[in-house]
Order: sequence, then structure tokens, then C-alpha cells
Amino acid sequence: MNPGPFLPRYERTREERIVDMGIGGGIVGLESEMTVWRHHLHAHPETAFQEWETSDFLAEKLGSFGLDVHRGIGRTGIVATLVRGHGHRGAIGLRADMDALNIQEENDLAYKSTVSGKMHACGHDGHMAMLLGAAKHLASDGRFSGTVNFIFQPAEETAGGAKTMLDDGLFQRFPVDSVFGLHNFPTLPEGSFATRSGILMAAFDTFDITIKGIGGHAGGMPPNLRDPLVAASHAVVMFQSIVSRNIEPTDAAVLSVTEIKGGMSYNVIPDNVLLRGCSRHLQPHVQDIVETRMKEVLNGLEISMGVSTDIRYQRECPAVINSTEETQAAVQAASVIAGSDNVYTDISPVMGSDDFALMLESVPGTYMVIGAGVPRANGTLHQPGFNFNDRILSVGAGYWITLVESLLPEK
Ligand SMILES: [Zn+2]
Ligand SMILES: [Zn+2]
Repeated sequence: MNPGPFLPRYERTREERIVDMGIGGGIVGLESEMTVWRHHLHAHPETAFQEWETSDFLAEKLGSFGLDVHRGIGRTGIVATLVRGHGHRGAIGLRADMDALNIQEENDLAYKSTVSGKMHACGHDGHMAMLLGAAKHLASDGRFSGTVNFIFQPAEETAGGAKTMLDDGLFQRFPVDSVFGLHNFPTLPEGSFATRSGILMAAFDTFDITIKGIGGHAGGMPPNLRDPLVAASHAVVMFQSIVSRNIEPTDAAVLSVTEIKGGMSYNVIPDNVLLRGCSRHLQPHVQDIVETRMKEVLNGLEISMGVSTDIRYQRECPAVINSTEETQAAVQAASVIAGSDNVYTDISPVMGSDDFALMLESVPGTYMVIGAGVPRANGTLHQPGFNFNDRILSVGAGYWITLVESLLPEK
């Protein structure tokens, strides 16, 4: 995300805005409860598909609010259903992610991670707390008519959770007309929102390449060898020219080799070298070009360097593409909470990714970003000093509530 032009433009305080939106009393009262939940989740992080205690915690809370709780959707995932008035009036899905990261927390907090080497460094603890808060408010005082499915998704960071939920029949068992995601973004002003219609986030692919040569004495008899390290070095450099020479300059792509393994001594050429990495792009045709050209580069190395190659190119996650109508509804709901001046709808697409994209391939919807206003010095997403900003809990919950009440009106 390009945070350049974003400046806070509030004329009223956060508390005034929340009260003004007409659901203020309930949400402000919920804020301390959401903070307690968030701190509990922060202290007990669990990584992809290990979110068992997290799932227990969420299920207990959602059940106590009176929602119909369905567990084991995507292993540790949950769908909690709330029907009010005429359930057939329409149905929407609201999604929060559940997983933590393999990072050792460096914050000195009363509620810091109790699990060595794991922490909530992407704010998913806050996302869960905001959606729980919205569920509690909507269950007790919601002014809507229809069905809301609260989707708690595991394993966003490894891009496996959305697929696993979908494979478990997420939208067949819990049909919705539209689905919405919300993620905090530290460098946007606190309590602001940002999104765009169309492509918002990049597709994400990974690759594993093995280059097989003929190893041997590094100095004595080069002609007898087929050096896979030299071939791998050419591959890394030539991959960079795919982006600079095969992709339209106005299209975006990033291709990165992030791991090279091969060899273990000063004077022996290894037989094999392993390359790993990822590529990101905004349009499917760019993805096709990157995959095809990588294979052509490797074929060329086979001919020119006498090695053999093998590539596993995996399309992990498509681009996040927001539908027009749902984005308008999301922007309207965010504007009620933050004021239209603080809802940025013309941001550039970002090269990060989220497997919420897979849900958007099945159902129209929108991924929204909420500003957390955390100074960069305090750490941004995926850093050991990052911490979710509790001051936006009520803003995010207010957005969810307003979205439900506007999309599923009582009359
Ligand atoms: Zn993350
Ligand atoms: Zn995240």
C-alpha cells in the first residue's frame, strides 16, 4: 500500500464519531471487553492450523452470545450464524483470520506472547476481537433482518486456510450473497479506512527448482563437470530480466529467488542446487508470462549448460479483486464510522496478498483496510515489535455492524 498521501483529517474525536454513528453506547461499552479478548488472544498465539485453543475461545464466546456455532470448517475454522427477522432476506459473510506467526515477540507487555517463537505480529488477534465484538452487539441489539455468517479462518499466513474452508463446503453449507474481509494497516492514520474497487492485492505463487549437474573436483577437471551452481546463478539473473523485459512496464510483477542451497566445501562442485522463491502479480496474464518464461529460461540452461532442471510452480493464491457494488456498500459503511474524508478509495493496488481472494472468487465482496496509526518505529506487520492498536477495536467493530445493518435492513 502506498501510504504517501494519507493524513488524519478528523474534526471530531474517535469517541464522538463512534457515539455519533448511533450505535455508540453499545460499542463503547464493548470496547473494554474486546480489549480483554484481544489481550488474551495475543498472549496465546497459535500458528496455521494449530489454532485449537483460539478456536475453543472463539466458540465459547460466540455460543454465549447465542450464535449457532459450527466448528471444524477448515480444521480449526469456525462459522457462527446469526439469523434475525426474515433470515431469507439475504445473507452476508464477515471474515476474520486467526493465525499467528513464527516470530519471537520483543514487546514488553503484560499480555505478551506466552509461547516462545510465536506471536500475533499481523494483528489477527485484533481482527478476531473486532468480529467477536460485532457478533456480540448484533446478537443483542442488531437492527437488521437476514443471516450473518461470522467466518473465523485459520492459516491465512500460509495461504491454506481459505482453501481448506472452501473445500469443506463453506459457501455450500453457509450460503452468502457477499463476503467481506478487514485487515489493519499500521501506517494508515488511526481509524481511517482504505480500499478500492477491482484489483486490490497481488496474486502469490511459489516455486521450487532443482538444477541437476555433474559434480566433482572444483579445479582439476572442469570439462568433465556440469556445474549446477553456475547454472543456478544464471537462472537467478535471467529471472530478473523476465520482469524487466517480458512484462509490460505498466503491469506489475515481482519475482524473487529467496533461497539457494547447494555445495558444502571449498573444492567440490555439488551435483544439485535447489532454488526457491515467489512471484507476485496483479493480472492473470502476467502470471502466465512469468511461469512460462521461467520454464523457458530453465530449458535454455539445459541446452547451454548441460544440466537438467525440474520446476514445481505453484499458484498459491489469486489476486484480491473487489466487486464494485459491494465495495460501494463497504465504503459507505466505513464513511459512517470514519467520515468520508477518512475513507481512501483511490489507493494503488498493493503487492501483498491474502487468501481471502479465494473466497472472492466464489462470492462477490470486498477486502477493506483499517488504519492503525502505529509509528513505523514501533514495528510494522510481521515484525517482533508490532502490536495491534486497541484504539481501533471499536472502530472496526462499528464498521462491521454498520455494514450488516445497511446491507440487511430491517424493512
Ligand atoms: Zn500477515
Ligand atoms: Zn494478516
